Amino acid sequence: MMSVYWNTRIRGLSPYVPGEQPQDGKIVKLNTNENPYPPSPKVIEAIKKAADEKLRLYPDPACTEFREAAAARYGVKPEQVFAGNGSDEVLAFAFAAFFEPGRDAPPVLFPDITYSFYPVYAELWGTPFRTVPLAEDFSIVVEDYLVPSGGAVIANPNAPTGLFLSLDGIFALAAYLEQQGRVLVVDEAYIAFAGGGRRCPADSAVSFIGKYRNILTVHTLSKSASLAGLRAGFALGDQALIEGLCRVRDSFNSYTLDRIALAGAAAALSDAAYYDGITEKIIKTRGRVSAELEGMGFTVPPSSANFIFVRHPRLGGREFFAALRERGILVRHFDRPRIADYLRVSMGSDGDMDRFLDACRGI
Ligand SMILES: *Cc1c(COP(=O)(O)O)cnc(C)c1O
Repeated sequence: MMSVYWNTRIRGLSPYVPGEQPQDGKIVKLNTNENPYPPSPKVIEAIKKAADEKLRLYPDPACTEFREAAAARYGVKPEQVFAGNGSDEVLAFAFAAFFEPGRDAPPVLFPDITYSFYPVYAELWGTPFRTVPLAEDFSIVVEDYLVPSGGAVIANPNAPTGLFLSLDGIFALAAYLEQQGRVLVVDEAYIAFAGGGRRCPADSAVSFIGKYRNILTVHTLSKSASLAGLRAGFALGDQALIEGLCRVRDSFNSYTLDRIALAGAAAALSDAAYYDGITEKIIKTRGRVSAELEGMGFTVPPSSANFIFVRHPRLGGREFFAALRERGILVRHFDRPRIADYLRVSMGSDGDMDRFLDACRGI
């Protein structure tokens, strides 16, 4: 559709297309990396408590409770935390705040295969970008980013490949960009599932705080905290970067998080014990499913996320997707160069994954 009422900027956009959310409860849904386990009971309790007559009042625009809980969890100061309506919003604000718009601006760099929202944000804000090819094995080649640019965005672990880039690589990139006066955004949506999953800050680039003033790590409660339906994300970084994000937010919508979401997010970040438990279960499931698929002849690059990226040498991606769909299983297929024969499969409950494995045997 086109409309004469759309301005030229809107006409030129190609918006992100989110994974399908079928309303039919019978489908095994492994297409959007949601967590198969429920959120912590403490989250539900906090949300119920927040649903009271105070809803007539605006929420805390500084998101104090949420930011304090994130700061405590990651060992940083509340001034080093920005809270947003899902990490997608935080990423959109980061593109607006740190990357130069305009045809002649130096391009922002990100991998050719990564989260497909990045080019959409760049387009929205009019920021030029250049994609950098991943290696044949889908790993990120850090040296390829050590060239003049407008900044860089890396998802770590990367999506949809699931591969993890070592912190040495991240810091080498940060050091180079710091000299250029540019920002490195590290999207850590899946960090809880990396490196064995113990104590998620261990694998996070947050240990940079105080060292590199140009790294911003972006986090979400959608995947690891089972709260995709709540819409809560946050970023950690030097106070100056956090203030840059606040400038964008306060030029747009001062209350991006409602009272319910603020209460739930703070409670989630305060219940590490519960979340470490379910994260460990997902990592175990990922190991079992990967091994069984490899036994059937599938190729499964090593995943550090709550999904795997799968291909069979004798099966096209579109064909594989359709065959699973016929068997009531929904996964994600990206019809794009280099990855058209792969499917991204979220880790469901063990029962769901048994159904998936049975279907793969049948196919
Ligand atoms: C899911 C995902 C997000 C978005 O998370 P929300 O907090 O739900 O907006 C961001 N980045 C990556 C790489 C993701 O996979």
